[in-house]
Amino acid sequence: YVRLFSQPLGQIAQAATTLQSTAAASARVFEFIEENELEDESGKPKVLKDVKGQVEFRNVTFGYNPDKLIIHDFSARALPGQKIAIVGPTGAGKSTIVNLLMRFYELNGGEIAIDGVPIHEIPRENVHEQFCMVLQDTWLFEGTIKENIVFNKQGVTDADVKNVCKAVGIDHFIRTLTYGYDTVLNEQVNLSAGQKQLITIARALIANAPLLILDEATSSVDTRTELLIQEAMDRLMAGRTSFVIAHRLSTIKNADIILVMKDGDIIESGNHLELLAANGFYADLYNSQFEHAEAVI
Ligand code: ADP
Repeated sequence: YVRLFSQPLGQIAQAATTLQSTAAASARVFEFIEENELEDESGKPKVLKDVKGQVEFRNVTFGYNPDKLIIHDFSARALPGQKIAIVGPTGAGKSTIVNLLMRFYELNGGEIAIDGVPIHEIPRENVHEQFCMVLQDTWLFEGTIKENIVFNKQGVTDADVKNVCKAVGIDHFIRTLTYGYDTVLNEQVNLSAGQKQLITIARALIANAPLLILDEATSSVDTRTELLIQEAMDRLMAGRTSFVIAHRLSTIKNADIILVMKDGDIIESGNHLELLAANGFYADLYNSQFEHAEAVI
């Protein structure tokens, strides 16, 4: 696989940590925003149910500091089940877009809607429930493998856990560990980057939410594991609207829409062939990376 961009996304991983631990210091930031939940005309916040997965960004502007906008006028639309790849150099705003989609921050202008409902009208927790996420391996916590996979999903049985692990091809490995699924993940357990990634994919499958955010891992893994991860990701993306912060050509090539970002703006969008034909930034990038890495493909 060719890796187009290789910067890990600290920001989104940090957001995930906040999701996972309400005690985290950063959660205090959100408490403040929570007090200002918007309500619809009837006085009740809107709650999403049975989400089909249409996602729309309309003229979104945003700055972590309102005096310095980072996202200028971002518009994009994903239909249910589509796969959206977001590519661009470090600092382009890829993880910021994902943070906004999950309503970790409020917009300075414009709107983001899920199935037509603006997310600022939906309780933040209800927005989060619509997403499963696969991030860099920073998102495993000290607990058993089983706890890491079940995470906060209710009503999950041991058989469910085993089934998803079989589906992603990690069950066999887990059973070779002395304590199997009850192995506590800490510094003494040496999981490879690929195994960690597969565990987070298993967790996302268990979560079974309609929308997916995927931050492709950039650490190198062996070819066989790479293939397992690719298959597991494909399984996860099937039937879900997926936003992939993409580093691999294999992902980007078969995306329905590729958003090429630079300095907070979408500078190009289209599918792989359209962008190649446009002969712009993406085509340049692709051609240079392709020449450089041809032998690896
Ligand atoms: P990418 O994911 O494409 O590498 P980011 O969305 O992380 O880009 O960053 C876009 C811009 O926003 C960068 O200039 C970055 O320095 C800035 N930025 C990211 N996170 C924060 C934050 N928490 N506070 C202030 N600025 C931030």
